[in-house]
Amino acid sequence: MNAPAAPPGEPRGVADPDMLDSELPAGRRSRVLIVGGGAGGLALAIRLARQYRHRPLSPELILADATLTHVWKPTLHEIAAGTAALEGPGTDFLMLARRHGFAFHLGRLERLDRARRQAWFAPLEDATGAEIAPRRTIVYDLLVLALGSVVNDFGTPGVGQHAIALDGPADAQRLHQRLLAECVRAEVQGAGPVAIVVIGGGATGVELAAELDGALSSVARFGRHLRQLERPAHITLVESGPRLLAALPEAVAERARFELEQRGIAVCLQRRAVEIGPRHVMLDDGRILDSTLTVWAAGVLGPALTPALDGLATNAARQILVTAGLQSISDPRIYAMGDCAAPAAADKPWPPRAQLAQQQATYLALALDARLHGEVMPQPFVFRDRGSLVTLGGRRAVGLLLPRRPGLGLRLHGWSAMLAYATLHWRHLAVLHGIPAALATLLGRWLLKRSQPSVKLH
Ligand SMILES: Cc1cc2nc3c(=O)[nH]c(=O)nc-3n(C[C@H](O)[C@H](O)[C@H](O)COP(=O)(O)OP(=O)(O)OC[C@H]3O[C@@H](n4cnc5c(N)ncnc54)[C@H](O)[C@@H]3O)c2cc1C
Repeated sequence: MNAPAAPPGEPRGVADPDMLDSELPAGRRSRVLIVGGGAGGLALAIRLARQYRHRPLSPELILADATLTHVWKPTLHEIAAGTAALEGPGTDFLMLARRHGFAFHLGRLERLDRARRQAWFAPLEDATGAEIAPRRTIVYDLLVLALGSVVNDFGTPGVGQHAIALDGPADAQRLHQRLLAECVRAEVQGAGPVAIVVIGGGATGVELAAELDGALSSVARFGRHLRQLERPAHITLVESGPRLLAALPEAVAERARFELEQRGIAVCLQRRAVEIGPRHVMLDDGRILDSTLTVWAAGVLGPALTPALDGLATNAARQILVTAGLQSISDPRIYAMGDCAAPAAADKPWPPRAQLAQQQATYLALALDARLHGEVMPQPFVFRDRGSLVTLGGRRAVGLLLPRRPGLGLRLHGWSAMLAYATLHWRHLAVLHGIPAALATLLGRWLLKRSQPSVKLH
């Protein structure tokens, strides 16, 4: 199968955001293609499938993802540390598709041909590089892009070669393997502590630094040498801004900093990493930090693919610009949600958070239904901030719930914060599996943890 001619690079003009499309097929099933089965895309596919389960002439729903398993991204730092559910971090898309009644397509979206309504997927290869399936296309009536995001290295030299970015489960597993290898090296060579530098003092960096610290203490207990050191890990968290957790109130950020420093994690504020080497990080004041393991957790960018999306308008952070109804401003057949989308008109950007993607999934399930019935969704999408919680490892967390005005809300820390944090994941599991199966999954994980070491040792 050959790809059609390359799409033009220039935007094709701005579509009327409220335009209803008279070309949606009459008498045949419309096809809704969702690309990206993360926090937003998977929740949308399940909600739409449930909505149409017993309705005649329901649309054909296809969810496409580059991988076979769905991983809840907010657990990536736990997968990296080895403290996540030990039976394996993913849920099979094929199982979810069969259970809920949508089709699943394994493939990495490569580009779009908007005039022909074609989404093109890259050839599929096995682990040896042999081709399993050629480049192929899916024709859509409506397309939802839920492609997530990647970190922004701001062009810093050495990031690609010497740092791990926590963009997906493969990165988290690679980080875990590196962590174990460094522990073994320290054990065998009688060296240590293991020097780790985490760059980026947002929620991801803070959670990762705390989780790695806890995991290293647990791993050290199984060794002979590391357990004798006062601290098996020396972790430094580097942040270019004046404080940690810029998106959260100052009091919450101070609490997080206090907890990290109490555990011996060095917090280095108002410093930028300017070069990453194989065993060091250089800061903008010339200081060199030893680092056997460097993690880049700063910045958010839309996927590198967005410029290949046939001229869909994007912002400087490569996010697809959408209307208040989550339609691309360049094409009313295309919707975008979650980390890969940004509001074209709002004065404030949306936060790159799972709760935003979940709220957009709920909204789009209704908006797409209205659209397929030739109606306009009357209300625009409005993000309701239910608060933010940050885990600090060892069943600790800090955060703010129900912030009605900036800085005002219910401040939590300790067990209550941890419980509130866990509900975001519980709610996601309930959407995936239904409430009884979600409870069974949680119970299963809890029982498994009782019979396994508290941290994954392979
Ligand atoms: C360590 C960490 C902790 C976090 N903690 C929290 C938290 O506590 N609370 C919170 O609200 N948010 C948290 N977040 C942010 C949250 O995970 C994201 O905002 C959320 O997952 C975004 O959802 P999404 O659907 O846009 O994308 P994702 O969940 O990232 O899903 C994107 C999907 O698209 C697929 N994909 C990507 N490119 C392609 C392609 N070309 N073709 C096909 N498929 C593709 C991917 O395989 C993936 O399945 C955290 C993030 C991290 C990294």
